[in-house]
Amino acid sequence: MTIIKTIEKLKQTIRQTKGSIGFVPTMGALHEGHISLIKKARLENDVVVVSIFINPTQFLAGEDLDKYPKKQEADEKICEFSGVDILFTPNINTMYSQDEVLIKAPILKSYTLEGQRRPEHFDGVLRIVLKLFNLVQPTNAYFGKKDAQQLSLIKQMVDDLFLDVNIIECEIIRQKDGLALSSRNVYLDNKQRQLALNISLSLRIASDMVAKHNMDCEKIIEAMKKVMDSLDIEYIAIVDRKFEKLDFCELKNTIILVAVKIDKIRLIDNIWI
Ligand code: AMP
Repeated sequence: MTIIKTIEKLKQTIRQTKGSIGFVPTMGALHEGHISLIKKARLENDVVVVSIFINPTQFLAGEDLDKYPKKQEADEKICEFSGVDILFTPNINTMYSQDEVLIKAPILKSYTLEGQRRPEHFDGVLRIVLKLFNLVQPTNAYFGKKDAQQLSLIKQMVDDLFLDVNIIECEIIRQKDGLALSSRNVYLDNKQRQLALNISLSLRIASDMVAKHNMDCEKIIEAMKKVMDSLDIEYIAIVDRKFEKLDFCELKNTIILVAVKIDKIRLIDNIWI
């Protein structure tokens, strides 16, 4: 595995690369969720590139940018063992310049749900993903369904800007008890983690209801709220795959999303039906 820190070196290496490139962008503190993306990329491509970059432009003032978990050594080992060819870990100063050309996320789709609580978050996400796509020139880029709204906006960016990359959607990896893996789970103490289990439980209850043909979104949301009554719910939303609000679930076209806060820790999860 080659570790590359500069843009020049990355460009030079990519120019010499032959065959398909599978790309997994991350912010590090890698866990089984990231590893599943890397493994899929490994299976489907000649060359696998992973980036680790804690992207400042997608954090709002007062969010956890400064204390976002950093595990450089462990991350490098994980990448090595998972068959990564190129690990790109750029310095924060090299990815942005002053007064630069900007890309904006679409207003209607990026200021709802996550974007309502985190305005401009998706502008920052699309800025960095576009820059990384331009540098890595991937054939296939791998993203988790865990960040469903992000995934949807990245797909839209690829369509709207005619980018030549396939976006591969990857399943959510959970711990045995249902908690979706997230780099932010390290913030949870035992009691908070126990509370957090109600998130995935509420999603299981929702999916059971749909399995029993209870498609009414209002009723599903009511049942989910009951399970999460001890949590500070930011939103529960039921949307179609294009993120339009649904009144009734549609099989193979529904995403049920949850965002909660446990003390100051923000957790998101969802299920695709
Ligand atoms: P992050 O490092 O949080 O920016 O995540 C990098 C990529 O890993 C994103 O595409 C996420 O959606 C994906 N990811 C994070 N957690 C999981 C998970 N539990 N299962 C699958 N993919 C995940």
